[in-house]
Amino acid sequence: MTTGSELLGRYAGAMVQVFGAPQLVLAEGHGCWVTDVDGKRYLDLLSGIAVNALGHGHPALVQAVAKQAESAIHISNFFTSEPAIALAERILSVSGAPAGSGVFFANSGTEATEAAVKLSRRTGRSRIVALEGSFHGRSTGALALTHKAAYREPFEPLLPGVVFVPPNDVEALDAAVDGSTAAVFLEPIQGEAGVRELSPDYLRAARAATSRHGALLVLDEIQTGIGRTGDWFAHQPSGVVPDAMTLAKGLGGGVPIGALVTFGPEVTGMLAAGQHGTTFGGNPLACAAGLAVLDTIERDGLLAHVREVGALLDDLDVEGVAGTRGRGLLRAVELDGIPSAAVMAAAREAGFIVNAVTPTAIRLVPPLVISERELRGFLDALPAILASARAAGEATS
Ligand SMILES: *Cc1c(COP(=O)(O)O)cnc(C)c1O
Repeated sequence: MTTGSELLGRYAGAMVQVFGAPQLVLAEGHGCWVTDVDGKRYLDLLSGIAVNALGHGHPALVQAVAKQAESAIHISNFFTSEPAIALAERILSVSGAPAGSGVFFANSGTEATEAAVKLSRRTGRSRIVALEGSFHGRSTGALALTHKAAYREPFEPLLPGVVFVPPNDVEALDAAVDGSTAAVFLEPIQGEAGVRELSPDYLRAARAATSRHGALLVLDEIQTGIGRTGDWFAHQPSGVVPDAMTLAKGLGGGVPIGALVTFGPEVTGMLAAGQHGTTFGGNPLACAAGLAVLDTIERDGLLAHVREVGALLDDLDVEGVAGTRGRGLLRAVELDGIPSAAVMAAAREAGFIVNAVTPTAIRLVPPLVISERELRGFLDALPAILASARAAGEATS
């Protein structure tokens, strides 16, 4: 058997190093558990970055993909298929989108953002307002809306006309949005910034400001959508209806798919035949996967389950934890003086996969199907993980 360290050596000789050195070489996953090539098991509290909504190897997803692969994997957008139509209808239905709404299928979150940027250009305006801390993707268009300087600056000049305002600051937003604004892009909860939530009042103020000036309100639900927060979409409790919404991550349960949802006939009509496209987007394989994910969330009552099991993470009274943020199963644990990288390493050692989302916080985005028992297993282990991370930090400092 090839060992993990041998494979990591080959990785270093074969891959562009944009991801740095991977932590592990994983061989397989079942439910909420993954196994590395050396045979060590881990509870997966990251889900491939909020992607594996149904965990690994869920029979509904495996069967849907296998069955669809036998009939047709890809057909191009010169043609269409029942899974694509049915998935678009299901997304519109759970979005509460009005009649005349529409879906454009892409292959990733970045591509969904790109489609939304092009949609916003069809207002005839080019200024876009985004938030400090935002993450909308890595292409040269989506990157222009992504706030982190380290991601952006090596690639400038990017798409011009983007201004960043601080989150949850209604005054700053009102000052930034005017008659030249094409769109405001918001993540209801900023995942990559460390799970930072926009208040319902702020979302409503953004709806009001964009409506007042004829700009589009685009909600990026790529990480927050598809049940992750215990609602189908994180913005829904605010009552806000956006003009457009982007989806990806959890939608295919691990099969690559992204989507732009346009709300109402006016916005939907803004992209006409020939104005956008994709070769792979909307292929029947990815759409069958998406349908299996949405069906399973509904059939198994996973929205209620996410709220219930996620409540275990509401308040953590643990030495070394300064506080928690987020909703449902999109959470950050803010650490009290322990570097998140040390916690991630100690957790891995103890058999748990977590993510150091900021230098001072770890992110927990387990599969939506995680059981209370599995999550409690992590919480029981957390004090020892934090103690060991603190000791490791002290040993190196
Ligand atoms: C992951 C993510 C993206 C980018 O998605 P990719 O599939 O990696 O291109 C965009 N926006 C948000 C909020 C994300 O979490």
